[in-house]
Amino acid sequence: MLSRFSFLLPTKVLFGSGCVKDRQTDWILGKKAIIVTGRQSAKASGALDDVTASLEMDYVLFDEVENNPSLETVARGGQLAREEGCDFIVAIGGGSPLDAAKAIAVLAVNDVEPLSLYDRGWDKPALPITAIPTTAGTGSEVTQYAVLTVERDQTKRSISGPDLFPKVALLDPAYTESLSPTVTIDTAVDALSHLIEGFLAVRANQLSSGLAVQGMRIWGRCIPALRSRVFDSTVRSELLLASTLGGMTIAQTGTTLVHALGYPLTYFHDVPHGRANGMLFTAYLRYINQVAPQKVGEILRNLGLTSLNEFQQLMDDVFGEHVRELEIDEADLAAWAQKAASTKNVANSIGNPGPHILKGIFRDSLLR
Ligand code: NAP
Ligand code: FE
Repeated sequence: MLSRFSFLLPTKVLFGSGCVKDRQTDWILGKKAIIVTGRQSAKASGALDDVTASLEMDYVLFDEVENNPSLETVARGGQLAREEGCDFIVAIGGGSPLDAAKAIAVLAVNDVEPLSLYDRGWDKPALPITAIPTTAGTGSEVTQYAVLTVERDQTKRSISGPDLFPKVALLDPAYTESLSPTVTIDTAVDALSHLIEGFLAVRANQLSSGLAVQGMRIWGRCIPALRSRVFDSTVRSELLLASTLGGMTIAQTGTTLVHALGYPLTYFHDVPHGRANGMLFTAYLRYINQVAPQKVGEILRNLGLTSLNEFQQLMDDVFGEHVRELEIDEADLAAWAQKAASTKNVANSIGNPGPHILKGIFRDSLLR
């Protein structure tokens, strides 16, 4: 008998070239928009021009979102949305602007300090969001999570709620063409980690695993391009689709220990999110191989790989020498492992890993 599960995916997904300009009636969700972006990518990708050309209404632009957005930034965006009387959000960018936009959507209607979103939640549902990704990595356009940097806790933490699912996701692969090869690879590995972690999560179910398997197969077809760092339009489309499938997967399952262990690398050493996951990946899969070897076999088959050594080689090939650039010692690893051990992501990891296992994954990944 199949086990019980639930599945929620309320986002309308429109995929394909020209979807922003062709589908205005689907994604214009109110009378006055606040457009939330990073400093350059929305312009560089062409997405901002397409949005403003389609929006035949008054709007305000908040283009100050930094990588790994802070609570101060989302507070400013929320205040601007309130002052300007905006009634919907258009988020354009990588995961950083998309996640910031979700918090701004909450703060636009709840005049509270952002920290209280973690401590007490919020009362009024967030403004509706249209999300337009310009990276193929986070899948944030189809998730209910917003990951922000919380200085008080010296880490990155997510808020989540059903009202944070964007109402519409517009996926035009052309917007990812302006990405550098390095950001393309970092973000592609984030997508892979959502697919694999979602597949391996304690909370995985029959539907989420179907999405993850499909995403892994598509991602596997992109491996030659990731190795050669040359991305044609077919690969750009496939990476974007794989990334959205990864988002759909973790919207059901959550992420696991890789995300929990990756956050200190980003917070303390500024390692991009996807690369942080990639550094930890092989040691994580070697650990999983001890508790659920058949699942690791399925993952490798879906990717078109034959062994964990081949997986390690792939990570080494795409990331080069980055691992050795970090100055990290045993004491850091022990503290980070201890802190990660109490997270939801670790509780969502099969095999019930404790601080000792987590420290071992850090050590094998970072001190080799
Ligand atoms: P990002 O931090 O949004 O962007 C990284 C860099 O890429 C920025 O410099 C950005 O420029 C640039 N960029 C983005 N799109 C571009 C384009 N088309 N052309 C040229 N440059 C472009 O990177 P990300 O990996 O997509 O997002 C990472 C964040 O998402 C992290 O905070 C992570 O924790 C979070 N995340 C969220 C979820 C979720 O479910 N919500 C899941 C995983 C990760 P600009 O600064 O100019 O924009
Ligand atoms: Fe991620």
